[in-house]
Amino acid sequence: MTKNSYDVAVIGGGAAGLNAALILGQTRRAVVVFDNGTPRNAAAAHMNGFLSRDGMNPAELLTVGRGEVRKFGGEFHDGTVVSVTRDGARFSIELADGARISVRKVLVATGLTDRLPEELRGFGERWGQDVLHCPYCHGYAVRDQPLGVIGKNAEFAMHQALMIRQWSDDVVLFLHRIAELSAEDREKLAARDISIVEGEVSGPVIEGDRLVGIRLVDGTAVARSAIFVGGAITMDPNDSILRAFGAERAANLMGEFVIADNMGATSVPGVWAAGNVVDPSAQVIMAAAAGAKAGAAMNMALTTDDLEDALALRR
Ligand SMILES: Cc1cc2nc3c(=O)[nH]c(=O)nc-3n(C[C@H](O)[C@H](O)[C@H](O)COP(=O)(O)OP(=O)(O)OC[C@H]3O[C@@H](n4cnc5c(N)ncnc54)[C@H](O)[C@@H]3O)c2cc1C
Repeated sequence: MTKNSYDVAVIGGGAAGLNAALILGQTRRAVVVFDNGTPRNAAAAHMNGFLSRDGMNPAELLTVGRGEVRKFGGEFHDGTVVSVTRDGARFSIELADGARISVRKVLVATGLTDRLPEELRGFGERWGQDVLHCPYCHGYAVRDQPLGVIGKNAEFAMHQALMIRQWSDDVVLFLHRIAELSAEDREKLAARDISIVEGEVSGPVIEGDRLVGIRLVDGTAVARSAIFVGGAITMDPNDSILRAFGAERAANLMGEFVIADNMGATSVPGVWAAGNVVDPSAQVIMAAAAGAKAGAAMNMALTTDDLEDALALRR
């Protein structure tokens, strides 16, 4: 970071933030990206489902992206943004190291944090390896293997179990803490040859560097080589900056998220949001696309402001 004033602060340098910064750099805006180095997919070795980047290491995407942003004058500051406050027509960005900078517009692209429920924390060490949340990210890699599903309620558990069946004909749904499954749900599972294991799960069985089974509270173990917990985790948006502004939120199946329109605008004038912080289902390519759209929208807003300033001067 070489200045104390920029057109745009991008908070979060994942796919969403970097693609916004790329567009803003190419529109010749002064942009600075703040990032504290905790991308959501850090545990994964490969990134799937991104045309032309399929299988790439997620860290490599960020390195390449940073290089591209720099080519167009974008700057980086590795650190945590602790607050953003309105300062007249501008915003003041405060960093954990005490530094402050002034910007005209703000993009929040801070992603989300996946949290396993307390009783399943033992699965955390295998997160992103064979403890998985997203079939579109990992399903193909574990195809034809003995797979398991754990959900926090019947709706989520059924959703993932029926979907995971696409990748394997050996799928087990662990009821874990689901008190009861309806006769209709049981029929659906039976129709798709998905087994049900009653009883609470206590943790993973790990041998060497891989998951080999799921242990139940009663001590028995069910052999599995990967478990999908997408229906059991909580996805917490890293949105304290947006909440501090009172940005409007709405509940969806995955929790309560700040609302951003199709171009990333929030209900807070001058503040945009893109990627997982507002859209938990966005994979990398979607987060990048949302960032690109927000970047263009922010450039348009700056263009309008520039025109108003020029007209005021002229008159
Ligand atoms: C294990 C796993 C595997 C996955 N595999 C795939 C896959 O194969 N394919 C796929 O398309 N998707 C995959 N995903 C989803 C992918 O992680 C998301 O789509 C993507 O990370 C969303 O990008 P983002 O820019 O919104 O957020 P992130 O990538 O999480 O980036 C947010 C950034 O903001 C920074 N940040 C947060 N708060 C602050 C702050 N206050 N100050 C400064 N910086 C801050 C963080 O350090 C982080 O770098 C996977 C997810 C997980 C959990």
